[in-house]
Order: sequence, then structure tokens, then C-alpha cells
Amino acid sequence: MTPEELLTEADRCVKCGLCLPECPTYRLLAHEADSPRGRISLMQALAAGEIDPGTGIEIHLDRCLGCRSCETACPSGVRYGLLLDASRNLIARRKPGGSGLRWLLTLLAEPRRLALVSRIYRPFRRGKIARWASTLLPRCYKRLPALGRQLAGTPALPAGLYPADQPKGRLVQLFTGCVASQVDQPLIDAGLALLRRLGYAVEIPQTQCCCGAMHRHNGAEEQAERYCETNRKQTAKSRAQALITLASACELELCEQQASNLPVVGITDLLLTQLDGGIPSLKPYPGRVAVHLPCSCHGDGGIALLQKIPQAEIIPLAENGLCCGAAGSYLLTQPELSRRLGRAKIEQLLASRADILITSNTGCALQFRQLLEEAGLDTRVMHPAELIHRQWPG
Ligand code: SF4
Ligand code: SF4
Repeated sequence: MTPEELLTEADRCVKCGLCLPECPTYRLLAHEADSPRGRISLMQALAAGEIDPGTGIEIHLDRCLGCRSCETACPSGVRYGLLLDASRNLIARRKPGGSGLRWLLTLLAEPRRLALVSRIYRPFRRGKIARWASTLLPRCYKRLPALGRQLAGTPALPAGLYPADQPKGRLVQLFTGCVASQVDQPLIDAGLALLRRLGYAVEIPQTQCCCGAMHRHNGAEEQAERYCETNRKQTAKSRAQALITLASACELELCEQQASNLPVVGITDLLLTQLDGGIPSLKPYPGRVAVHLPCSCHGDGGIALLQKIPQAEIIPLAENGLCCGAAGSYLLTQPELSRRLGRAKIEQLLASRADILITSNTGCALQFRQLLEEAGLDTRVMHPAELIHRQWPG
């Protein structure tokens, strides 16, 4: 988006303020510059060349989660997410360098690099080095060692063709994601096993790469575009019937950027279609299951699917319209605000008396697992597909 296009889009904002009550950072900070309306005014001034990067605008844009609750609330249809990405890219171009942490995160959001770091870090993750690092690192890096504990340290699922348990002539491609391939391997295993049981052969191509969401939302639009192009090319060559995604943030990015030549289908939707067809009867789960709704999820977060589990009491988490504070790299770049939002969710989880917390996005799962560990709670955090896999008969 050029500065002129940014100004045209931003001009649709009539400054009515109807989005303000929906904005998590405005609710926390009660400051106009940390509201959608205030940020749009700052972006307009930036695009018009009235203010420069380095004069304070970054503080307010950095505090924005990119959750896009404001977009849903806006009667004028302002595409706030596009404005935010374009402004961050404008800042990155006008003031190269930027945050070292942002640079590090966009560098690591690549499956092979993250797998390598994961293998190197794994032996140190619970030792003194990780504890010293937490104490000595600057504020914005402090959560890295704790989050690093969730890295698997084992190679991601190898690329290849995985046959169906009972072949039915169906082939799908599985999008494993960069962060998920290292922090959510049980989810990838569950997704793969379910697809194979349902009669799908599953392809994981060597050339599949990150969806680019982390890069795009951190101002590295050119890198994000390169990833999209790679994914477009590799899906164009595939004979698969669909590209199946696990994390809702990857699904949203692939759809919005049209980065796949195959139809993009979330595994939750696919499983719901199959279970609506009556196969199979799941094992009962006599417990309470709370469902968190990620900002990137445009469905019900898996509620309809999980209601197929006999005896399970499925409860939407209170205030599900508000972001949990994970928001991609936000849990690292804005640790205090991220924690405040995340802890409010943990309070709601406790009030729900659920023994399992469901989220269909990897970033949210990272946030919840770390905050639950800090609070000494052992509530399981799972993707809907993981719970369905656990309750699968046989
Ligand atoms: S994206 Fe979220 S945090 Fe940012 S202005 Fe909109 S509602 Fe507020
Ligand atoms: S973004 Fe939409 S809801 Fe918010 S102030 Fe502008 S026009 Fe109003």
C-alpha cells in the first residue's frame, strides 16, 4: 500500500469513536493515542509526512495488538488491519533498523531456522542459563527463555507423502506452520493422524514455508510477499484437493493474501463436516471444556465440533471478543500489556471451572501455557483437533 492509498483508506474513518469500547488497549490505557481512532490519526500524519518515525508514533502503533476488534465494530468499514501493516512497513522503510527483537522474530519465523534454534536451546531450557537469561535480559527479551521452554527440540515432521489408513483416493496438503512445527507437535501429529484415519493421503511438501503473517505484521512486507509467492507456486504444482490448516492465524493469512492455489480449509471445519456425516461416535468426556476465540478465527473456535463429544460441557470463555494478548510477536514485544490481557483470561478460565482450555491458534496456546505455568495451574491447553483425536474411538 502506498502512502496515498493509505491516506485514501484512512479517510474513510469519520472519527465517530464507536470502535473505542472494543479496543483492548484503549480499555487498559484510556488514552486516545492508544485507541483505533487515535492511531488512525497518527497513521494519517505519518503518511502525509507531517510526522516522522522516531517522534513517538511507534510507541502507540507498537502497543496495538492488531486484533482488529475495531474493524468488526466500525460502521464505515475502515480496514484497520491494512492500515496498520502499511504504516509499520512505511516506518520500517523510512527508519531502517528498527527493533532488534522484531528483526530476531521475523528471522526465526521460518521452520528450518526455528528447528535449529530449538535443538540448540533445548538442553539449556530448564537450567541455570535460562534462569540467568530471564534475569539479565532487557525487558523486551525477558519472556524469551520461558517461551523457549515450549520448543520441542526435535525435528519438525518430515516433508513427504503420508498414506491414508484406508485409501479413498483423497489427497490433501497439510500446512504445518513455522512456530507450530516447534511448539505444537502434538497438534500436528493429531491433525495428521485424523486426516489419515478419515481416508486422506497427506502431503507435506519440502518447499512449503511460513505463511508470512509475522513478517507482514512487523513491517517486513517484502519478505511476507516472498513467502506467499513460494506457497502459491508450490500449491499450484500439487494434485491435492485442499490445503488443510491447523492454526487460525495461518489460515487467515493464507486466505487474505490468496497465498494458496488450493482451497484453504481449517481442520476444525473439515472435521465438523465429517462428524456431521455421522462418522464416528466419539468417546465421552465427562468434564468442562472452555473455548477461547482467537482474534484470527472467524468461526466459533470449534464449539460446534466439540459439542459432538458426548457428555462434554462446552463453555465459551467469558469476554471472548477480547484478545488474549498473544497477538503474534506482541507477547514478547509488549510483555506487560500482554500479561495483563492474558491474566484476565486466566481469571475467566478459573471462573469457568473448566479442566481443558481450547484454542485454535498456536500463539494463543503459547501465551496460555506460559501464564498457566506461572500461576501453578495444570489446566490442559489443546486445539479442538487434539481433543477430537483423544476422543476418537479405538
Ligand atoms: S487492532 Fe485491536 S488493539 Fe489495535 S486499535 Fe484495533 S482494537 Fe485496538
Ligand atoms: S475506525 Fe470506524 S468506528 Fe473507529 S472512529 Fe473511525 S469510523 Fe468510527
